[in-house]
Amino acid sequence: MNVSDSELMAGILTQSGHRTVSHIDDADVILLNTCAIRENAETKVINRLEHLNHRKRREGNLIIGVCGCMAQHLRDKLLKAAPYVDLVMGPDAYRNLPMALNAVANGDPFLGLQLDKSEDYADIAPIRKEGIRAWLTIQRGCDKMCTFCIVPFVRGRERSLPLKLLTDDVQRLVDEGFKEIVLLGQTVNSYHDGQHDFGELLWSIAEVDGVERVRFTSPHPADATDSMIDAMENCPQVCKQLHLPLQSGSTPVLERMRRTYTAEEYNELVSKLRERIPQIALSTDIIVGFCGETEADFMQTYQLMADIRFDSAFMFKYSDREGTLANKSLEDDVPESEKARRLNEIIKLQEEISANINQDAIGTTASVLVEGDSRRDAEQYHGKTDTFKTTVFPKENAQVGDIVNVEIHSATAHTLIGEIV
Ligand code: SF4
Repeated sequence: MNVSDSELMAGILTQSGHRTVSHIDDADVILLNTCAIRENAETKVINRLEHLNHRKRREGNLIIGVCGCMAQHLRDKLLKAAPYVDLVMGPDAYRNLPMALNAVANGDPFLGLQLDKSEDYADIAPIRKEGIRAWLTIQRGCDKMCTFCIVPFVRGRERSLPLKLLTDDVQRLVDEGFKEIVLLGQTVNSYHDGQHDFGELLWSIAEVDGVERVRFTSPHPADATDSMIDAMENCPQVCKQLHLPLQSGSTPVLERMRRTYTAEEYNELVSKLRERIPQIALSTDIIVGFCGETEADFMQTYQLMADIRFDSAFMFKYSDREGTLANKSLEDDVPESEKARRLNEIIKLQEEISANINQDAIGTTASVLVEGDSRRDAEQYHGKTDTFKTTVFPKENAQVGDIVNVEIHSATAHTLIGEIV
């Protein structure tokens, strides 16, 4: 989402006569686009700002801005920690960037933190780097109120962009050479523009002339409708991969998280998805050590992960975030050492599962979108399968942007290795 928002800011600033430079030392204005989801991101931003301030002190006229969720969330803390920051701007205020830069140039610091339910930036053309995968924001904000999450407070209420505008955007992206479109939203599958739901949007985007692949992230389990599943099953351009955040395998913990589904409902949804789309790859997010999580709750998460066998998972220890509902009303009562132990156990489990699933792919042939040189070997390409698995293979009569068939001959927990057939 932040990559997409940075492209949007580049679009706004380019329209007003600014230009991006390829090296930070050449910039007169540096905007850090920040995330408030995890605490260590904040520490990183403050460290980065201190580093930039050395240059500001040397050069005097450098403008430093902090944008995004952290700016929205922490403005007082931020201004105290980094009083030399010239501009602080939340996710709904980017339209004011040119005006803010003018104000700062005239010596007035700028604070833009108003949330605006009507702001969807529908008329702004983002500036994307050339590439093969384009991020397309279809919805902003979130109406869910998960108790551990800061997003609803920093990104505001949910709003969807009109389908016609999005299909026009996709046509432009295809014309610019992008091969894969990734639809973005906090709860991307709750998309509704007043007339069309998410399934209809998937169909409409896949039908745009020249679209090769469509993905989306992150869906919410409670919004995984038949309309979405139908489109995933029947539309060849829609990749057979779903990142479906579970968070916990214990229904009481899910209730305290206000996730709006039970562990049983989640499991039923997975069964339905696998019945309808047998080749589907599933990944997830898990939080261990949430407020009140007992050993029995944790074991339910462990068992559900073992039963479902996700292809991959992002796993975290719960950390209390100021401003969330959990921070206000629940006790962060699982000891840190216990959180760490639980996290290590599920990481070990998931590594084994991911390795086994990838081992099962040996001998199969996967369709892979070539993305560029492999990081470790310039003689090899890397790319992603339809199921979003990283695949490495020798460069043979293929170019970046091609979709090639790769026969898999070995695998690790995180990578498939093969050759073009
Ligand atoms: S669905 Fe929950 S976790 Fe996701 S952005 Fe909304 S509040 Fe946060």
